[in-house]
Amino acid sequence: MAVDELDGRGVLLGLACGDALGRPVEFWSPDRIAHDYDTLTEMVGDGTWGKPSGTITDDTDLALCIARSLVECDNFDPTDVASRFVDWYDSGPFDIGNMTAQAINRLKQGDPWDVAGQQVWEASPEGSNAGNGSIMRCPPLAIPYADDLETLARVSRQSSQITHADPRCTYGCAVLNLTIAGYLNNAPNPLTGALDRLGADMPAELQAALEPLANGDRPDSLSTSGYVVHTLQTALHDVLTADTAEDAIVTAVNRGGDTDTVGAVAGAVAGARFGASELPARWVAEIDEERELRRLATDLCTVEGD
Ligand SMILES: [Mg+2]
Repeated sequence: MAVDELDGRGVLLGLACGDALGRPVEFWSPDRIAHDYDTLTEMVGDGTWGKPSGTITDDTDLALCIARSLVECDNFDPTDVASRFVDWYDSGPFDIGNMTAQAINRLKQGDPWDVAGQQVWEASPEGSNAGNGSIMRCPPLAIPYADDLETLARVSRQSSQITHADPRCTYGCAVLNLTIAGYLNNAPNPLTGALDRLGADMPAELQAALEPLANGDRPDSLSTSGYVVHTLQTALHDVLTADTAEDAIVTAVNRGGDTDTVGAVAGAVAGARFGASELPARWVAEIDEERELRRLATDLCTVEGD
């Protein structure tokens, strides 16, 4: 396994930092954030979910489910991941997305992993069928499979399908993880490499949103809705244009809207790009799960896979 352990830690800790920084201002407008904080640069308590500072949400919880499963199974086993999602749901999390809740309910009724999300997707109308709930949790896969990009693309899509079967979600996970793997491998242009690898398989909306970023063009406007294409475009934009990991995550969170998830996705990519040591220590120290995230990142480097 060629991945630098420190960069792998950056992926998991960066995801948790973006999630926890964004949590108290989730659903806020950028103006409201600016009014209360000028620029939100510190972990704060209370706010949207009324939790202590540094509290993570479903984004990191579900990424932890995938990371623990990879380490304990020494492979990607979607049935095992799905059963961990069910256990997490039964623990009564305070934050959970619509499609995730619906798919987990189907898993609890006996649907296999590759049926539950498909059924939910087929029953969901356009506009509420392609949320960002699978991209926010998939980055742990990029660590063990960074040296096998074909497998990484496949397992990333499968990890999405458990709850989010829309091709924009499944390929969203693939392009995100291939980009993260590119940074872990010190590739010259990770997003370009990811888009080239997926090629014509990419859904047109994703291609249209991400190709300009890869070419260095900057979109006129960026959205922070829960639509997977918006979240990926905004988070990747903020990492590609940042000079530091902190800049990337602060910019993403202060846009308002789905702050924890845009922050988590930007954080995972920024952690891969800049490394764990470049994440602000004052943020990392607030994350209760820090030790487990560090240990998992190390252990993920030794997963054998297929
Ligand atoms: Mg969340």
